[in-house]
Amino acid sequence: MTGLDEKLVDIYAEVSRRDPRETEFHQAVYEVLNSLGPVLAKHPRYADSAVIRGLCEPERQIIFRVPWVDDRGTVQINRGFRVEFNSALGPFKGGLRFHPSVTLGTIKFLGFEQTFKNSLTALPIGGAKGGSDFDPKDRSDGEVMRFCQSFMTELYRHIGEYTDVPAGDIGVGMREIGYLFGQFKRITNRYESGALTGKGITWGGSQVRTEATGYGTVFFVDRILAARGESFDGKRVVVSGAGNVAIYAIEKVQQLGGTVVACSDSSGYVVDENGIDLDALKELKEIRRGRISEYARAPARFVEGRSVWEVPCDIALPCATQNELNGTDASRLVDNGCRLVAEGANMPCTPEAVRLFEHAEVVFAPGKAANAGGVATSALEMQQNASRDSWTFEETETQLADIMGRIHDLCLTTADEYGSPGNYVAGANIAGLIRVADAMLALGVV
Ligand code: NAP
Repeated sequence: MTGLDEKLVDIYAEVSRRDPRETEFHQAVYEVLNSLGPVLAKHPRYADSAVIRGLCEPERQIIFRVPWVDDRGTVQINRGFRVEFNSALGPFKGGLRFHPSVTLGTIKFLGFEQTFKNSLTALPIGGAKGGSDFDPKDRSDGEVMRFCQSFMTELYRHIGEYTDVPAGDIGVGMREIGYLFGQFKRITNRYESGALTGKGITWGGSQVRTEATGYGTVFFVDRILAARGESFDGKRVVVSGAGNVAIYAIEKVQQLGGTVVACSDSSGYVVDENGIDLDALKELKEIRRGRISEYARAPARFVEGRSVWEVPCDIALPCATQNELNGTDASRLVDNGCRLVAEGANMPCTPEAVRLFEHAEVVFAPGKAANAGGVATSALEMQQNASRDSWTFEETETQLADIMGRIHDLCLTTADEYGSPGNYVAGANIAGLIRVADAMLALGVV
């Protein structure tokens, strides 16, 4: 616990003691608390009023059984989660993750991060996350639908436009949101569009929601580069993952003049020195749901089971999953000349990797700021649902770019104000805290 302000040591100890096995949650809490010393020096009320202690404890945690029948007629039992972390700023809001690695600790770390991220957007949304240890990979459409229907048969009683608004995350894209929304509509007998985001355009979705997280991350990086008198033009970029965030990060980098030379999935990575062929990647991942090894286009090569971070680049965008970029990867990136890292995924860089970047003066943009474009556009989808309106792609993308620009500037001015100029981690953690903590104080002990 070195480095923590003395007022925060007990809070962190309590978090670790209460849920000793939730290591990812501890990591996320520590990373935020570690930035808060200067805030407590200036505003002791946040520690004295127990607001920070409250921020580390979810308002509500729901765990439920999800029974369903597979294509062979065998009953399968999965576990479902929804962690409603903080609703001081608005209805709980955050995605659903379907992946075999999901535990309560994973969902708590994501819900904690989400609270700060949503606060940074300055939109009226609280923080939450949910999901299941269900693995949609290699499941038929029918199996995925039956799983989603069973999942929603419990979840529906906890969500709603004014209560809790889930969206997608790893393993949950528009197909899953469709099945979830269909079951929600059937059970409640209400077309309550604002109860879920990430919907299809023709049934209540927003333009740009699919692209939003990847585009938003790249808008954030573009702003960092502009602040330094640079641009994407001619930059060599490596992206990890080949899912929703990665694909649309690649698309926007290409639009802004950069070249993405590598991307990955959990089986390995592909390097394509001519730049990733985005149409081929979309067809492979969004339509065929294939493996990255099938991305076959000379002179591209597939490297099995190794880290994509061994590919030299100017800019690295980790867009896959938590703790996918460790100290060894960070050292290699630094040695190969990487100067900027922005997290499209949630907490993809280990604490050691972040320390190494800081030490080497590599600009580092944390996920809670850099990937906030997804949830921000979800909030824009909620606005359109509430007003029964739909905006054009251009209008929505302009709003997304403006929001990312504002988050960028807020991080920088806050970091400056609290004595860590240029430190996006400190800026994001402190600015995220202040908005939600002030709301919690205003609402009393609830
Ligand atoms: P997704 O569409 O399911 O894609 C995830 C991608 O990451 C897949 O290509 C997956 O490969 C790959 N991957 C998973 N584990 C990996 C590993 N250990 N090494 C290399 N690649 C790995 O999910 P997503 O929506 O893009 O989400 C990616 C990240 O962004 C997550 O951290 C998520 O929380 C975060 N995020 C998403 C959104 C959003 O709007 N979707 C918003 C904010 C943050 P396999 O197919 O082989 O597993």
